[in-house]
Amino acid sequence: MQDAMKLVVVGAGGRMGQTLIRVIQASEGVTLHAAVERGGSSLIGRDAGELAGLGHIDVAVTDDPLAAFLDADGVIDFTSPQASTEFAALAAQARIVHVIGTTGCLAEHDARIEAASRHARIVKSGNMSLGVNLLSVLVQQAARALDAAGWDIEVLEMHHKHKVDAPSGTALLLGEAAARGRGVDLTSHSVRVRDGHTGARETGSIGFATLRGGSVVGEHSVILAGEGELVTLSHSAGDRSIFARGAVRAALWARGQKPGLYSMLDVLGLSS
Ligand code: NAP
Repeated sequence: MQDAMKLVVVGAGGRMGQTLIRVIQASEGVTLHAAVERGGSSLIGRDAGELAGLGHIDVAVTDDPLAAFLDADGVIDFTSPQASTEFAALAAQARIVHVIGTTGCLAEHDARIEAASRHARIVKSGNMSLGVNLLSVLVQQAARALDAAGWDIEVLEMHHKHKVDAPSGTALLLGEAAARGRGVDLTSHSVRVRDGHTGARETGSIGFATLRGGSVVGEHSVILAGEGELVTLSHSAGDRSIFARGAVRAALWARGQKPGLYSMLDVLGLSS
């Protein structure tokens, strides 16, 4: 039997970081090897288990990612676009698996992550849950079946008030699925904000609407609006452990793959 996969959690003090520590401790086949936070953080030196509400587990939070990655098998990263590009280069140096859940990446971040995937096995997805990835397959089918002339597509999302990027990575993932179904490029067909006298809706566009408030973990709906009827495909995230369990599953899957950039659809066997 293979040894347990040694995982590093970066951004260990964050909402997802703490959830990941709890999920890794409760999962078979993986072990928490190290926990990383940024230099200067008040969490450096604290026990990762205590941070996550589990009690002492003898893993102290460190600000030295390279040392943490050297003897590890994989890193799970829900941090910020800038941090994730830096971790991707380090994970490539260490030749380990890198699971990236961070959203809000710009083209320049994605280009650097893709370059790192020549040496590292990277799984990157705006949503690591089974439900949303299945939903994206259904959205692609619906967008293909319901023609652009008769059906308008709108993606609606709501998240907690601390979220810093919009639309959410999941909303964009669902928009990409709709665009694939329609055979169009999302960037040139999306309307991400509406304000003031916008004129009538452009046929074939894919609209986004963003709500923020309270502690909402993640609500997403893709609405296909036709003359006299609406089809709504939606997903509700009840708690963050669905993303953490998906990320652990991705790490275990990627361990057996060649270097490259993969998505959760690859992990779940849903890629067409
Ligand atoms: P959060 O609570 O702000 O956590 C981010 C953590 O990363 C913070 O502890 C932050 O530290 C740390 N960090 C930032 N830069 C770092 C660096 N250079 N080195 C080490 N640690 C660093 O945010 P969150 O709610 O957990 O979400 C994190 C990201 O995951 C967001 O992009 C979010 O959209 C995404 N997300 C994705 C999924 C998915 O399924 N793909 C699901 C949920 C969330 P400081 O506080 O010191 O900055």
